Amino acid sequence: MSEPSSQTSVSFTRRAATALTQWIDSDHCPDGAEKMRNEPDKVDLVRVMPFVILHLACFAVIWVGWSSVAVWTAVALYFIRMFAVTGIHHRYFSHKTYSTSRFGQFFLALWAATTVQRGSLWWAYHHRHHHQHSDDPEDAHSPHVHGFLWSHIGWITSRRNFPTDYTKIKDLAKFPELVWLNRFDLVVPVLFAFATYGFGALLETYAPGLGTNGLQMLVWGFFISTTVLFHGTACINSMAHLMGKRRFKTDDDSRNSFILTIITLGEGWHNNHHRFQSCTRNGFYWWEIDPTYYGLKMLSWTGLIWGLKPVPQSILDEGMHADHHASVVAAVASRAASSGSHDYATLRRIVPVATAMAVATATASSANLPKKADGPAIRKNLSEEAHNMGPAKPAPSSTHGEVPPVA
Ligand SMILES: [Zn+2]
Ligand SMILES: [Zn+2]
Repeated sequence: MSEPSSQTSVSFTRRAATALTQWIDSDHCPDGAEKMRNEPDKVDLVRVMPFVILHLACFAVIWVGWSSVAVWTAVALYFIRMFAVTGIHHRYFSHKTYSTSRFGQFFLALWAATTVQRGSLWWAYHHRHHHQHSDDPEDAHSPHVHGFLWSHIGWITSRRNFPTDYTKIKDLAKFPELVWLNRFDLVVPVLFAFATYGFGALLETYAPGLGTNGLQMLVWGFFISTTVLFHGTACINSMAHLMGKRRFKTDDDSRNSFILTIITLGEGWHNNHHRFQSCTRNGFYWWEIDPTYYGLKMLSWTGLIWGLKPVPQSILDEGMHADHHASVVAAVASRAASSGSHDYATLRRIVPVATAMAVATATASSANLPKKADGPAIRKNLSEEAHNMGPAKPAPSSTHGEVPPVA
């Protein structure tokens, strides 16, 4: 074997070994997290294999079939966990829009970990970075900079985006229990997967008339529900800066979209959120439905959380006098001023949205591929915003900015 090919082989083996270890210990960076974050964007197939398996396992529905109880469990777990994505990962850890106790915080982090979107600290770190660099080249998931597919799914497969920069989330990194959950971010998802299997097995034993079993519940309650949950969440990254109306003249191209609001329980009011991130609501007015806010309000009645932050009257007044077209013009001007290279040609806007619709359709159709009807008789069918973030990272040398899921 020649010297260069030998070196290449050693390099590949070393990178693969690192990736495999990161499945278990996501803070494992033998060459330093900083070095990894400064690498050019490149998909790491070994590291993302659990993510690939998550998707492929959905096809097991061909063998396990379906039942009403399994499908409805998948739907319920989608919404229970979408609430965790938006109400916990986003509105608590990323933006601290309400308060809780240390125990409450740990409980919320556990809940959010069942979403299988890495740890809350990784999530918050990347999301705060998004607000700091929205639609700039450094924004890892701006559809205007990187295109639809990269913003939707590509950026999380890139090696440089794996490590958590704890120096940028010092307010969260001071809690060792949160750091542990973030470091070993596969633990809760694996336990959650076993729990869905156990739930199905229990139903098979004690309620055989429901027609489900452990494997079927695992496929529907964990794999399908989690995969759809990921893509629902990712729609905010890929589409919330593309589709919908602009109310506020923010420095980015964030939009308000009712469709995205339904998919994400309130995150669709993204332009509102980019204008003011410190309030608990994303729907600023009574007619802008915000299920996550309603849920958080109910949680506050239990005493688990408190201090939900309201939308300032000045922001509400500003919004009442805003104009969509003027805001779009401002966004275009802002982008041109900051980069001088972004064009907002009609084609560039239509292609990503059309692709998104195709992906959504394919996802929906595959999720409804019942093989047999063996179910029961009854059928139903973030401020402190940039707040506690540390200083912005020096711009990396590659065209794809530093890090960057969601909202
Ligand atoms: Zn946010
Ligand atoms: Zn955004």
